[in-house]
Amino acid sequence: MEKILSVNNLEQKFDLNRGILDKIKFRNGRFIKEERIVNAVNDISFDIKQREVFSLVGESGCGKSTTARTIIKLIEPKGGTVKFKGNNITNISGNEMLKYRKKMQMIFQDPYASLNPRQKVIDILVEPMLFHKVANNLQEAREKALDILEKVGLRPEQATRYPHQFSGGQRQRIGIARALAVEPEFIIADEPVSALDVSIQAQILNLLMELKDEFNFSYLFIAHDLSVVKHISDNLGVMYLGKIVEKGSKEHIFNNSLHPYTKALFSAIPRLSGTNLRKSKGIEGEIPSPISLPSGCFFHERCPYMKPICREVMPEEKEVEKDHFVLCHLY
Ligand code: SF4
Repeated sequence: MEKILSVNNLEQKFDLNRGILDKIKFRNGRFIKEERIVNAVNDISFDIKQREVFSLVGESGCGKSTTARTIIKLIEPKGGTVKFKGNNITNISGNEMLKYRKKMQMIFQDPYASLNPRQKVIDILVEPMLFHKVANNLQEAREKALDILEKVGLRPEQATRYPHQFSGGQRQRIGIARALAVEPEFIIADEPVSALDVSIQAQILNLLMELKDEFNFSYLFIAHDLSVVKHISDNLGVMYLGKIVEKGSKEHIFNNSLHPYTKALFSAIPRLSGTNLRKSKGIEGEIPSPISLPSGCFFHERCPYMKPICREVMPEEKEVEKDHFVLCHLY
């Protein structure tokens, strides 16, 4: 299948210094230059094929959402390349990016924060349709908007209400409808269910999958919980401290996970044993600061299998079986 997205050696960094003077510090009787850089995304590569769901999973703060925002160029990449359907969009201007914005849409974790509270639902959908010329006139846009609202499970009479008049799950449906309004080919869903009640999560996940089958688009799905992505993913990348430490098909990751961090993520999922919810073990220790990355393997301070080489040398990515990659000295 043809690739819709290719991400190669992507990097994202944020300079915490407010200017050159902020970098000059007085230490032990002399002035030194001290830079404080957050290394949020560190040389990651993956491909997403047409109609595929690729999920990025990892603990909060591992760089998944920053990766998503960098791909869609809400933040300019600091290194590497992003190609959409073979076109390099890494360094194109905001104007050139407009035609890709229509094809690449994003669904956010907090739908309320991403919806204009002063706009009625119908206008939230109609405005981007007219801007991106998906509809020829207001009448056509309104008809299409009502169609989409029905597809996401909202009634026509709800179209004239404001976002605050809806529940969390309904607001996420509006966020999904807004993404669909411009007929995208690729959707980034950034933790789209993590702010919702567990009972609503399954409904929204099912809706996203039904829409994918109907409209044939591809997803980059961001989640911190492996159990959320189990049923919807074709392929996954497991992220730790801005790096993909393991990637492969759903079968590879769920049936034969190899990286100690992936295994630790699995052990952190609470399991039902008999009638009791077995307490999960969790992952020992804290994620190190992305301002001062550890030497060698980024996971070595928390890894139960750490060897002396792990402290010194960053492992290279190895393909341990077809299309199953891991970044670990054990392999
Ligand atoms: Fe653990 Fe070493 Fe593998 Fe890193 S490289 S995950 S420290 S065994």
